Amino acid sequence: MKMKDANCIFCKIAAGEIPSKTIYEDETFRVILDINPATRGHALIIPKEHYANIYELPEDTAAAAMVLAKKLASHIAEALTCDGFNIIQNNGEIAGQTVFHFHMHLIPRYEDDGNQDKLCLNHLELSEEELEGICQKLRK
Ligand code: 5GP
Ligand code: ZN
Repeated sequence: MKMKDANCIFCKIAAGEIPSKTIYEDETFRVILDINPATRGHALIIPKEHYANIYELPEDTAAAAMVLAKKLASHIAEALTCDGFNIIQNNGEIAGQTVFHFHMHLIPRYEDDGNQDKLCLNHLELSEEELEGICQKLRK
């Protein structure tokens, strides 16, 4: 029995209940073209089971998603002769997540795609003490 959320659009797309421009499918994932693409070839890797975000995602699905991202990045780069590639994955509204079913963005980049600014985050200036404090909190 697959985990699904009855109100989730990506559950319906992944299950094939809502049509999509699918470029790849296996037992675990469906990969579709984004309906509002940042560039030509912008695709989404969507697990067929419902996990809201990376925190909920099982480790084996996370590992498989990364392997698939690696393979499809090479495939898309060759097929569309792009100049670069972004792989983006948003968690939480503040981070830009709008669909609360885990997905990875595969975004081929082109010299003339005009998107540079949109993918840039601001940078903080942190003191040595602040960096050291964060490092100590995060060290495992
Ligand atoms: P997020 O902002 O959550 O990281 O990304 C959600 C992405 O899903 C957006 O880029 C948006 O364009 C795409 N999206 C939302 N609804 C649909 C849909 O019904 N079909 C497709 N193909 N993409 C969708
Ligand atoms: Zn879902």
